Amino acid sequence: MKQDTLCVQAGYRPKNGESRIPQICQSTTFYYESTQGMADLFDLKADGFFYSRLANPTVEALEKKVAALEGGAYGLGCASGMSAILLTVMTVCGAGDNIVTASEIYGGTYNLFSVTLPKFGVESRFFDMNANAEDIEALIDERTKIVFAETVANPAISVLDFDKIAAICKKHGVLFVVDNTLATPVLCRPAQFGVNIVIHSTTKYMDGHAAALGGMIVDCANFNFKGNARYASFNVPDESYHGLVYADLPVPFGTKCRAQMMRDTGAIMSPQNAFITYIGSDTLALRMERHCANAKKVAAYLKSHPKIAWVRHSSLPDDPYHALAQKYLPNGTGGMMSFGIQGDVSACARFMEALNMITQETHVADVRSCVLHPASTTHRQLSDAQLESAGIPKNLIRLSVGIENAEDIIADIAQALEKV
Ligand SMILES: *Cc1c(COP(=O)(O)O)cnc(C)c1O
Repeated sequence: MKQDTLCVQAGYRPKNGESRIPQICQSTTFYYESTQGMADLFDLKADGFFYSRLANPTVEALEKKVAALEGGAYGLGCASGMSAILLTVMTVCGAGDNIVTASEIYGGTYNLFSVTLPKFGVESRFFDMNANAEDIEALIDERTKIVFAETVANPAISVLDFDKIAAICKKHGVLFVVDNTLATPVLCRPAQFGVNIVIHSTTKYMDGHAAALGGMIVDCANFNFKGNARYASFNVPDESYHGLVYADLPVPFGTKCRAQMMRDTGAIMSPQNAFITYIGSDTLALRMERHCANAKKVAAYLKSHPKIAWVRHSSLPDDPYHALAQKYLPNGTGGMMSFGIQGDVSACARFMEALNMITQETHVADVRSCVLHPASTTHRQLSDAQLESAGIPKNLIRLSVGIENAEDIIADIAQALEKV
């Protein structure tokens, strides 16, 4: 089935007489008749639910939908996008290991990688997305467990050169992990380009209505852990699961992530949030079409405006990422764009405060258009040098174009620019 069909049909399928849409299974625990039945669940010998810290039917419905959309094998619904990233790292990294990551990434991820993970002995090595393959490759050593990047970086809106990174990962047998939040599986399926683990903040387009926090890890089950010395923990028996060897399983990463990391952290998505996200994702394909069409019009308008210093959106022919976007995201890169206003930082504030319909929010990628000034909000912890390496000039305004009528969005921007 095509992506737009999967949005409405994949995931949950009722049996005779059951509810047509997934129900909110608001239960911590599940009943079994036999002791052996429960023992098999605990040994991972049988499929089923026993405690909602590990798995839950409502969450599973969404996991199956997103896994199908990504063309992956297995999904894990997490409490947030950040927890999805943390669990992914925890599944493969221990103290002394390192991850090699693009520096143009979401601010929260940047903090996790550069400040929090080092406290646990996991080092992050950053590369510029435009660096050549040799320079990125030079960061990899025998303790590198993950190469990480975002399909469309938030908020820099750079587009990932999948082929460049996939070739490096393949050569060294390293997991290629991509955060596909802003592209969504409707616009790009990273598994097609050699990615092994796909991550989402479902808080953004997947839910689409700014109603539910959530994250998703999709294991594409296309990575060979068996005998790979880099991933020793997948090749030795797990004593907490009666000697299970994850590399021998059909879905090694996903199983280990749930069995160990969900168990130990409890960072699972709530059934309520899974339900809201499931309903929201039904219209994902339809919404992305409108987000992309609107963004293209708004970008062209901004580009032509004398008070705008620069505009970054890959739909613009002279955008540095136009060619990569055409190659990997031919149907559009979504509603996110950034631009700089002629003048200093105070001009940014004047513009944003003059907007009527478009609101200032610490959020992106939902149905309503919104703006943010990262240097004074989400990224204010970063130094000038860090801002630079994250691709965020001080006068950058991030605009998330919603699904309103494009004429109304442009009219609001136009009247605000008059006041600058
Ligand atoms: C928002 C976001 C995250 C973090 O997700 P939360 O659901 O807010 O925890 C991670 N990556 C990207 C690209 C994001 O936009």
